[in-house]
Amino acid sequence: MSLVVYNTLTREYEPFVTVEPGKVRMYVCGPTVYDEAHVGHAMSSIVFDFIRRYLEYKGYEVRHVMNFTDVDDKIIQRARRTGEDPAAIAARYAEKYQKQMEQLNVLRPTVLPRVSQTIPEIIQMVADLIEKGHAYVTPAGDVYFRVRTDPDYGKLSRRRLEAAVSGTRVATSEEKEDEGDFALWKAAKPGEPSWDSPWGKGRPGWHIECSAMSLHHLGDQIDIHGGGNDLIFPHHENEIAQTECYTGKPFARYWLHNGMLQLKGEKMSKSLGNLVTIDEFLSRHSADVLRVVIAGSGYRKPLAFNDDVVADGERAVERLRGALRPPTGNLVSGPAVDALASQTAKARADFEAAMDNDFNTAGALAALFELVRAINSARDAGVGGQPFAEAQATFRQLSSVLGLQLTAPRGEGQSIAPFVDLLLAVRQDLRKAKQWALADKIRDELKALGVIVEDTPQGSTWRLQ
Ligand SMILES: [Zn+2]
Repeated sequence: MSLVVYNTLTREYEPFVTVEPGKVRMYVCGPTVYDEAHVGHAMSSIVFDFIRRYLEYKGYEVRHVMNFTDVDDKIIQRARRTGEDPAAIAARYAEKYQKQMEQLNVLRPTVLPRVSQTIPEIIQMVADLIEKGHAYVTPAGDVYFRVRTDPDYGKLSRRRLEAAVSGTRVATSEEKEDEGDFALWKAAKPGEPSWDSPWGKGRPGWHIECSAMSLHHLGDQIDIHGGGNDLIFPHHENEIAQTECYTGKPFARYWLHNGMLQLKGEKMSKSLGNLVTIDEFLSRHSADVLRVVIAGSGYRKPLAFNDDVVADGERAVERLRGALRPPTGNLVSGPAVDALASQTAKARADFEAAMDNDFNTAGALAALFELVRAINSARDAGVGGQPFAEAQATFRQLSSVLGLQLTAPRGEGQSIAPFVDLLLAVRQDLRKAKQWALADKIRDELKALGVIVEDTPQGSTWRLQ
């Protein structure tokens, strides 16, 4: 089976063929660091972590670049409110985001560039675009990209040039030649961070930074450019325009966009004030729960995020953990062993088929649950030794492609395993003492709680309903 991905640029499913065989160059737009990151930010990082992990599972060497936007209006506004230095605010939240990504088991990108460290490359690119006639300097010292010089403009978002102005972040300016033109460089205003340039002191516009960082760290042509689908226009459209006008080559082969996380039906954003921060989430749930919730929804769809969905995620993680419980028997041959081997092979094939189909993580998760059921039945049938260990190893490998750690979490109300084990040990003593009624009461009460107890010649086992 070979990988097929949905390309926003063509609106088609396409076979995945990289510029350089065996290697993937992937750029993902990162956060603007000015405040606490919320689970919506985490969603994009986790989605592209699924993608990267699966590409690595398939044997690709992935060079993954994610930027931090550390020069931006929002950072400057916050600095004005708090009286802090904008650079200090950005540095603090960038560090924090990296720590949170580690807690969420997101693989660290190969390079994590910041705008403030990419200024020379940005200036060089802007200068070249001016020289080629694709950009112009206004009397105020701003530089704008001349959208009408790019005949392909609008190809990603499928917007006609006439419509290009609606939805842009660019403020209306009398100095622009055309409403659709966007800022590459903004002249310094008093009290704002600024750098020297051929056009006077100023700072880069939002879009140019990603183009410059991608070019600098990944070269002229890359395989995957990713981000949230709210970035398609204007950000990614403008990135394509300025990069392709600069290099004269196609920029990214595949444009991959994740859906937005929606809280109570509304897009999660800071303006709504109803966000859940990553810290808040992780104080109550494990990273696995967030990963299972996101995987279960599929990366391109909007993710409905609410308490019920998170509670389902908790139960799903608990069920997945059940597959890692040790065997109770030691059968190494016979029909139950053969069944486990063939079910394990099928689960792997189903997992790969799902992921090869545009990273269908919901299908991959379903394949993992197939394997959980196979392992639990094999345990009940007394399978142990090498055959059981091999099935568990496959389960561990596949769950790690989704970045799941499935370790028993510390803290309250999380893993029920030690408590059920304790109850079963007590029940075993009651049975030895022929206290059948009490032993049955424990079994029935556990069943009412969704824990199925099964008595086998090797002892009692349990699993979640
Ligand atoms: Zn970007």
